[in-house]
Amino acid sequence: MTELHLFNSKTRQKEKFQPLVPSRVGMYVCGPTVYGEPHLGHARSTVSFDIVFRYLQYCGYKVRYVRNITDVGHLENDADEGEDKIAKKARLEALEPMEIVQQYTIEYHNRMRELNSLPPSIEPTASGHIIEQINIVKKILANGYAYEKNGSVYFDVLKYAKDFPYGELSGKKLEDMLEGTRDLDGQTEKNNNVDFALWKKAKPEHIMQWESPWSKGFPGWHLECTAMSTKYLGDRFDLHCGGMDLQFPHHEAEIAQNNGSCGHEPCNYWMHNNMLTINGQKMGKSLGNFITLRQLFSGDHELLQQAYHPGTVRFFMLQAHYRSTLDFSNEALQAAEKGLNRLMKAVELLSKMKPENENSRDFNFADFKSRCTSAMNDDFNTPILISQLFEGAKFIQNLNSGKAGMEKEEFENFKNFFEEMTFDVLGLIPIQNNTDTNDETVEGLMELIINLRLRAKQSKDFDTADAIRNQLTRMGIEIRDSKEGTTWDKNIPQQ
Ligand code: ZN
Repeated sequence: MTELHLFNSKTRQKEKFQPLVPSRVGMYVCGPTVYGEPHLGHARSTVSFDIVFRYLQYCGYKVRYVRNITDVGHLENDADEGEDKIAKKARLEALEPMEIVQQYTIEYHNRMRELNSLPPSIEPTASGHIIEQINIVKKILANGYAYEKNGSVYFDVLKYAKDFPYGELSGKKLEDMLEGTRDLDGQTEKNNNVDFALWKKAKPEHIMQWESPWSKGFPGWHLECTAMSTKYLGDRFDLHCGGMDLQFPHHEAEIAQNNGSCGHEPCNYWMHNNMLTINGQKMGKSLGNFITLRQLFSGDHELLQQAYHPGTVRFFMLQAHYRSTLDFSNEALQAAEKGLNRLMKAVELLSKMKPENENSRDFNFADFKSRCTSAMNDDFNTPILISQLFEGAKFIQNLNSGKAGMEKEEFENFKNFFEEMTFDVLGLIPIQNNTDTNDETVEGLMELIINLRLRAKQSKDFDTADAIRNQLTRMGIEIRDSKEGTTWDKNIPQQ
């Protein structure tokens, strides 16, 4: 097995990756809270850890990749007070919370599939693991690291901090936190403002609530990941991943819950992807630069000069290391589009090439392979891998124009490896351009559909004729009948 080094956010250094069980990896990624359209932040986190999942598999590991869906318990402002994000959206749209969950889980899956991110091995939901969560609260209470107040249960951070370090992952100091929160509000029922909810008693109007030994209520947001990672990966597993914004309080709380319930930390390595900016600014709804993936892929946002293919967006993200910040701009995305096309042309060329049986003079495949894998073995350095692939693309051009040669067997190895890196490891997808040949196909299909409709009308099957027209209208295609015949036109859908 290759020697892989990854940056552990907990120790803040690169460490040699050694799984608990040889050749198997347990990997947990904090997934989305499904109350809105998936946006760029979701894409960055999912794509970053999709690479980890893919590369570990490429290295020969059998990976169990668990990524949760948060469908209950995530309150506004990531705090312990306020409305549940999903319940709030449901109230605003007059829908059931589970309708919101269903709608945005599907949206999330669709967008991630468009970005060519592989689905996880297990995708558990918070609401499906209430019993497991209650059991962990019981354990933490029994160990003395939590207390009950008016039907809610809170994690006792001060008590816990006497036995375990608190704040190591986020680099926060408990004294500073206590200082900062001392007189913030008198409304909380917590013993201390640094404590966090494990179980909250629900107000009568709260829709999502369950029976528990303490009250009818719902779990605290951080608890679900402890419950689900323990259930599917064990109370100690290899890799825990998520966005950097989750380090505190979410992941710090997970460490505390694990220590508090079973006396040790949840995982050996923590990985966090960095945040992204839009034209140099943090993305936020109040700044008017909040871009959903649907908008990005359709171009329907005032900041976007064009639609960007999911393949371009993925490639753009991978051109930066997951621990670097990433700035979105039209210029950068357009440059990425050109770069991706260049790479894909090389791959296409490669697939058509029949090499001469020559010795390669200026290209050493073994060296090339080692440069590519070394990049990935060094904390999943996709930008270096991509730059190597561009070097490879240059060689492919030379090979094609006869300026370089390669021995047949080595060529086969090179070709397989190049495709493996491009498609299996980076998961790149070519940009389908709907010009030329595609247009011809569409013309042909439309002629066929119009003829079928005409035949339906001639045989007085008006239901079918109308159904065809309606379906086309829904697809944004308008058909017009006149004495000269039927014509069609593609409408730009009205928003
Ligand atoms: Zn989580």
